[in-house]
Amino acid sequence: MRKLTVLIAALFMVAAAVPVSFAKTTFVTIGTGGVTGVYYPTGGAISRMVNAKSKEYGIKATVESTGGSVYNVNAVLAGDLEFGVAQSDIQYKAYYGKDEWKDKGPQKKLRSVFSVHPETITLIATEASGIKDIMTLKGNRVNLGNPGSGQLQNSKDLFEAFGINESDLKAEYIKAVEAPGLLQDERLDAFFYTVGHPNGNIKEATSGRIKVAIVPISGEPVDKLIAKYPYYAKSRIAIKDYPTAVNKEDVESVGVKATIVTSSDVDAKVVYAITKEVFDNFEEFKKIHPAFANLEREDLLMGLSAPIHPGALKYYKEAGLDKFIDKSLIQ
Ligand code: GLU
Repeated sequence: MRKLTVLIAALFMVAAAVPVSFAKTTFVTIGTGGVTGVYYPTGGAISRMVNAKSKEYGIKATVESTGGSVYNVNAVLAGDLEFGVAQSDIQYKAYYGKDEWKDKGPQKKLRSVFSVHPETITLIATEASGIKDIMTLKGNRVNLGNPGSGQLQNSKDLFEAFGINESDLKAEYIKAVEAPGLLQDERLDAFFYTVGHPNGNIKEATSGRIKVAIVPISGEPVDKLIAKYPYYAKSRIAIKDYPTAVNKEDVESVGVKATIVTSSDVDAKVVYAITKEVFDNFEEFKKIHPAFANLEREDLLMGLSAPIHPGALKYYKEAGLDKFIDKSLIQ
């Protein structure tokens, strides 16, 4: 009899525990970029922070390697991804319906969560190619970036600024992850990659058998480009990050910022949780990648064009950070 009572009691306990452990979990996916870039570990860091409190929030986040910024924005808008990493210029273009989104028009459902590290338009070329600047790319085999990447749009902007046509060179449209290998195999003379530094991709490209240089992107056309577009700014690539590159000094270029985007359809609770975990554990977050080294919390509220998602805004108000946000982004 006692055994039976114990058994029944145990059954009741199990039954009571079931609804708790099987409580509804919301699965979210963060779209990133190639595995040798900085988006992929950025997405990994964010997902780990939320997953550490999976039980509390009822959220399980996973990361997907994707074609990059443009792909991520479109997948977020289509509801295929809940979050995506996207360059600040791409976020701007999507929200205001420019270039890639010229036919589809302004993407009004796009929302900002925060920005992350600075990214620099990085042009890598073999020493043998003789490429010294944008103009000398002519006639060479150059990877502009895969469709869906941010660098494809940046290389097009630069060509327009310098008055070059894509047909002036042998343009390739492959993924950044494959470019260093092709350069070292002498099947490519140069490639563009808009990316945070340091990163594994540029390390791989500059440390092989073939001597490789980081090509400066500067001059009057660049100054005009920066004056014309609010999201472009001057930037430098620190040569200490790539000691085996041909260059001996830091390299001048143009930069944007990596940002985290979502859609107005995504639940405020989920966006709040992601925002809170990154900001509350900011010192830990910064240690995850050297590209985050110089970031301050306020920096994460700069470089955004789409309105701040209400879930993120709730956190910024609680943390007293809303004063750093451009008023036009608060709806
Ligand atoms: N900025 C690149 C893009 O938008 C990705 C860079 C990275 O993965 O770190 O496609």
